[in-house]
Amino acid sequence: MINDQEHYKTIDLPFYKEHIETKLPANVLDFHAHVWHSSHYMIDPLKNNEKGSGYMITTNDYTFDSLRKDADRIFPGKDYKAVCFGNPTPAVDQARTNEYISDGASKRSGLFPLMIAGKGLLPGEELEKTIIHGNFYGYKVFLNWYGDNYADITIEDMLSPVEMNIAEKYRLIVLLHVPTSDRLANPVIQRGIQKLAEDYPSAQIVLAHCGRCYLPDQMKAAAHSIKDLHNVSLDSSMVMDPTALEILLEQIDSKRLLFATDFPVPAMRGRRVYVMDHWVDLVLDGYPESGYRVQSDNMRASFMVYEIILALLRAADRMRLSEAETQAIFHDNGMELINRVALPSQ
Ligand SMILES: [Zn+2]
Repeated sequence: MINDQEHYKTIDLPFYKEHIETKLPANVLDFHAHVWHSSHYMIDPLKNNEKGSGYMITTNDYTFDSLRKDADRIFPGKDYKAVCFGNPTPAVDQARTNEYISDGASKRSGLFPLMIAGKGLLPGEELEKTIIHGNFYGYKVFLNWYGDNYADITIEDMLSPVEMNIAEKYRLIVLLHVPTSDRLANPVIQRGIQKLAEDYPSAQIVLAHCGRCYLPDQMKAAAHSIKDLHNVSLDSSMVMDPTALEILLEQIDSKRLLFATDFPVPAMRGRRVYVMDHWVDLVLDGYPESGYRVQSDNMRASFMVYEIILALLRAADRMRLSEAETQAIFHDNGMELINRVALPSQ
């Protein structure tokens, strides 16, 4: 087996140079990156797997330096910017992770912090103060469950008027990972999003992982529901299926599609595929075990980030987007949302 640096030089970098580098704009905005320190955990995620706290975990720690290092390796020669936030699960001390994000982002350029927030976590006054003092651009909505135990959680269980009134007032970004095993294909979730978008027209709602529709069939059942919701955008983190993205682009303007990674997850080498009716992460050997993660060294693979990029490029090509429209997915579309946020200057 070749070591990591050799793999980088002989497989990742040549692939990047041939298939990715010239297709991306000089400035890349990643709309979904996690950053946290292991000291924020209240329980050890890798030791408490029975509760599902280790779900999707690839590393114990992912600091600002880790993100920088991955961005430099994966996007050499590009100016990488990111919308970043902590680890939005009950395993983590949210106040500490929020403070870490706000502090870290303020000391670095090109980072746009979101606060982990959600229904019942903070009273309105305190939430508003934290958003303003922390220079947060909005919320990454708290996931009030462990692992993939979504049960019958609704949008109304995750966000209340307390958070949404503040989002409306300052045109905040509300980055939302929709619940339930049917995702945005679930009519109850669709109505929840429609109501949120209509009740709070100035809030800038972004559905993480394209509403979690990684499969074409899921996207087909979901995309029509957000067609006319102009304050709802979608981040492409971990979506690697070009057909799913093509189906989405048949319904919405490409301006509403935002390139995103979900670092650190797609720093793994492999690809998210689907088998029957669920996604599977097919990755090289050596990562921690997790649900729907299949490891093998019997394939060539590079960073999953490249598979996200290629899926977007293939979908854009099929939909005959112009070069400018395609490039905007990787930077300008997201920056437009960020520039619209209207926090009072301190
Ligand atoms: Zn995420």
